[in-house]
Amino acid sequence: MIPVSEFYRNLPAKTCVTCGCTMEEQHESYLYECERCMNQSAE
Ligand SMILES: [Zn+2]
Repeated sequence: MIPVSEFYRNLPAKTCVTCGCTMEEQHESYLYECERCMNQSAE
């Protein structure tokens, strides 16, 4: 049995689906691309 708090703490770092870079924890959870890739796709 793993406590729920431990489960979330051990989640892997969130990465951009386009370039694969690691995104900061404070990024909105619904974002799947880093700011750089989002800016490029917005062109
Ligand atoms: Zn990216």
